[in-house]
Amino acid sequence: MPYTGSPFPLAAHPRPAKRGSVPRAEGNPAADGSAANGLTRRVSRFFRRARLRQLLALSVLLLSSPALAAPAVSPLRVSASVHPLALLVRAVGGEDVKVDVLLPPGVSPHGFEPTPAQMRRLAEAEWWIAVGGGLDPWAERLAEGVSGGRPHLILIQPSAGSAHNADHNADHEDGHRHSGVDPHLWLDPVLVRDELVPRISAALSRQRPAQAKMFAGRAAAFQQRLTALDAELTAGLAPYKGGAFVAFHGAWGRFAARYGLREVAVVEPSPGREPSARWMAQVVETARREHAVAVIIEPGFNPRVANTIAAQFGGRTVTANPEGGLGGTWGATYEDLMRYNMGAFRAAMTP
Ligand SMILES: [Zn+2]
Repeated sequence: MPYTGSPFPLAAHPRPAKRGSVPRAEGNPAADGSAANGLTRRVSRFFRRARLRQLLALSVLLLSSPALAAPAVSPLRVSASVHPLALLVRAVGGEDVKVDVLLPPGVSPHGFEPTPAQMRRLAEAEWWIAVGGGLDPWAERLAEGVSGGRPHLILIQPSAGSAHNADHNADHEDGHRHSGVDPHLWLDPVLVRDELVPRISAALSRQRPAQAKMFAGRAAAFQQRLTALDAELTAGLAPYKGGAFVAFHGAWGRFAARYGLREVAVVEPSPGREPSARWMAQVVETARREHAVAVIIEPGFNPRVANTIAAQFGGRTVTANPEGGLGGTWGATYEDLMRYNMGAFRAAMTP
């Protein structure tokens, strides 16, 4: 039935019975043996219908009103500096979070400068998360500015990452090998399972204590999937144990250490900066000496230099995706992203 009035019209203004006295709306007509029994039954029936109409009206209202149909608590508005963090927060937060990523798709976090509009988005989030350790210094800088007052989680504390930060943005080619803290934390699923997921779950629970059980439950389920994922990657990459590769930028140190591969050189020691001819010659020399079989390139980077280097030591170039963020075949979930990367490394390392 169409409903147009106030929420409780029938309760506020019950229609008068057509005949007779004030009815006993709540009475039980069968228990009343008087002469007025028939009338009372009819009146009572009318009121039962009236109450039915009232219930119908109320249910229509409940079904049609988004405010009432939605969960009691709106999702926590989260901003993540980079895509892999968004994937992790979504895995733990589920429908209780709404995650926005600052970094545009297909853009490297290294050397990225957010626009004022992107900074505003971060400032509007209820909670935000960044990697730290020099990976997303722009996010760290934002913490000192307009978003600093917002609750947030920077995974690598600035004190631990400051040395690496300088290293990461070195002007000189010093063989940048992530000698400080390698900020590509998410490329080790075991580290994700044992450290990142518990910290994210705890931080979300602090923001939404009422949802803490949901976060803990999803975190536990995700951790189980990560154990399975780690077993899958271990098995999938076992045939290439000890195999050497050249990375486009120094992203794969943790991944390689976990799965028994060797990242022996990087094409761009300062991500986003084209290497010198001297550096390229050193990379070729190292690749030959270490019997590297491939250069792992990345979407969004010009592969020209990598192709030149690979051709010189007789390796192949294979695209993997350390920073995530392109969705689709690149992986809509963290597990998808890592499976994609496992496939890329299998293709790269096959003799
Ligand atoms: Zn990186």
